[in-house]
Amino acid sequence: MKFDTKVVRSGIEPDPSTGAIVPPIYQSATYVLEEVGKDKGYDYTRASNPTRETLEKNLASLDNGKYAICFSSGMAAVDSVMKLLESGDHVVCSDDVYGGVSRHFNNLMVNYKINFSYVNSSNPREVEDAITKKTKLIWIETPTNPLLKVTDLDAISKIAKKHNILYGVDSTFSTPALLRPLEFGADITMHSTTKYLSGHNQIIGGVLITNRQDLAEKFKFIQKTVGAVPSPFDCWLTLLGLKTLSVRMNRHCENAQYIAEFLEGHKSVDRVTYPGLTSHPQYNIASDQMSGFSGMISMELKGGIPAGIALMNNLKLCSLAESLGAVETMITHPATMTHADVPKEDRLARGLTDGLVRLSVGIEDKADIINDLNNALK
Ligand code: PLP
Repeated sequence: MKFDTKVVRSGIEPDPSTGAIVPPIYQSATYVLEEVGKDKGYDYTRASNPTRETLEKNLASLDNGKYAICFSSGMAAVDSVMKLLESGDHVVCSDDVYGGVSRHFNNLMVNYKINFSYVNSSNPREVEDAITKKTKLIWIETPTNPLLKVTDLDAISKIAKKHNILYGVDSTFSTPALLRPLEFGADITMHSTTKYLSGHNQIIGGVLITNRQDLAEKFKFIQKTVGAVPSPFDCWLTLLGLKTLSVRMNRHCENAQYIAEFLEGHKSVDRVTYPGLTSHPQYNIASDQMSGFSGMISMELKGGIPAGIALMNNLKLCSLAESLGAVETMITHPATMTHADVPKEDRLARGLTDGLVRLSVGIEDKADIINDLNNALK
């Protein structure tokens, strides 16, 4: 099946007992055994659930992976990757990851004696230079949240293989519609399904995808043991959202390109970052490895922080909200919202200034989005 067909059909069969075209929601905690030691493949929903399995089959196929393991949030998926590590291990991580990820690493994982080096992974040399004898994982986010730095996944794969290090990619901003990291040699692809995959701001969820049976078994064990699982209803809602992933991503990309070009030419805007602009420092890498540039834009206004705040407070259509990747256009102030827990000196060191504004471009008519931005910029 081609990608657009997989999105709608892969892993989804009509319900065998009724023919229902939409898979039923198996909202059940447990399953009745026929006799001792004989179940129908399910015993307890923390361990497995038919609705979750349907979602996992669909997500695995979209990323061209053999196995997908779903979690109750993107952060629970990240945490499950961390549970592969042992005290004393070291991780090389992109320096501009989502603030919740660095909060997890710097406030929780360090208590278990896991150490982190944050590097600008757009420069593969920095990744290789940070590797020590204790490095067990390279963790890349591309494009990053919120500065939209793009990493050459192929180059990092060569480094990971050379040093025999596990290689994971948070591909939340790209989605499998635009980029499939396993095809570039990653061992693990991670998504916050809260974002583009479910697409309608209706759930919180996460997933890990891999081709490696050993990793899949470990993640399955962590999933069942820790129990950070999505509810059957949330899996079902994600499945419905996923069916329109391809058409939504086309529109997100088209709208974002148009709006990024409009903002770049606007007299009140100092700097626009969007991987689809030729001014983006990794425009060539993004063009080579992605089939579209997704819907995220970040910008800095000429009037600095007061101008950014005035913009955000004066928008009528674009919603001032924490999340991203949904049908509605949302605007965020990373310094006080998504990345508020990143210490100010760390934020500034990576270029995340207090004046930075992040836009998640939705699928509304682009003329209405531009009109709203234009009025607020005035
Ligand atoms: N990774 C990225 C790139 C994100 O943007 C987010 C959330 O914004 C997460 C991970 C965490 O996902 P969740 O909010 O579903 O826990």
